[in-house]
Amino acid sequence: MLKIVMKFGGTSLVDGNFKRLAEIVAEHARKKDKIVVVVSALAGVTDSLLEASHKAKNGRIDHVLKFTKDLERKHILGVNKSITSDYWRNKVKRKVKEVIEDLKNVLTGIAYLGELTPKSKDYVLSFGERLSTWIAWGTIRDYGLKSQYFTGETAGILTNSNFGEATPLLNVTKHQVKRRLESLIQKGVIPVVTGYIGVTQDGATTTLGRGGSDYSATIVGASIKADEVWIWTNVDGLMSADPQIVPSARLIPEVSYQEATEMAVFGAKVMHPKALEPAMEENIPVRIRNILNLKNPGTLI
Ligand code: ASP
Ligand code: MG
Repeated sequence: MLKIVMKFGGTSLVDGNFKRLAEIVAEHARKKDKIVVVVSALAGVTDSLLEASHKAKNGRIDHVLKFTKDLERKHILGVNKSITSDYWRNKVKRKVKEVIEDLKNVLTGIAYLGELTPKSKDYVLSFGERLSTWIAWGTIRDYGLKSQYFTGETAGILTNSNFGEATPLLNVTKHQVKRRLESLIQKGVIPVVTGYIGVTQDGATTTLGRGGSDYSATIVGASIKADEVWIWTNVDGLMSADPQIVPSARLIPEVSYQEATEMAVFGAKVMHPKALEPAMEENIPVRIRNILNLKNPGTLI
């Protein structure tokens, strides 16, 4: 019986299909493992939000309308692929529409003001995770499991106000996240948390820097003193070289936190460079795993 935080990223959620996520979670729930799921945005969504925020600033209401319509369609498609029952489908579709409505209002406000502050930009950037996490939640519910939706804010991830690259205030965060999630986990409820997002003391949404969902996963892992944090991706793990360039590159079964941090800093695009800090502090192993190759144990950090 393990306590595991699992982060699922855009690359492990091919075409917005969350069924594999739910299957993996269900299999571990059956073994009585305690699980928290951290979800990042669907592939490409955060980039498109960034672009939309700039176009809004330039007064492009036309783009705001087209963009939010396309984004809604993309996520509704994901809902249809992932969720089988009408009940959960409709529930999640309603949530997606509500979130899109909020986003449209924010972008419209930016367009009218012609002003994009670091604070409003972070709020816009947080919408990819707000959307994808509802689908993850609904898919898990559709599999008959108990689950609760959290944003980074409601989960208790408190940060400074360095918008765009906020630093978590770990002491308070650990305390809050543990208080909000631990009793649920013990009751067999699976908390599903938006990656990438935190909140300042004043209640403003922050983001943890690009690729920050990994960071969210280790923050949550450190808070609940998880046995392991798993980062699901679409490669087998850390490789000794870029396999596109060096065909003889091999999978590295185990590395130290130190080595992994250096690899992240030097461009192996596997993890957010600061993501290992909270794990290191609590001595929690981080495992990189391939969602397309479940037999592979991945790389253990
Ligand atoms: N969605 C965010 C990004 O694209 C965070 C993440 O993917 O981890 O940077
Ligand atoms: Mg990512």
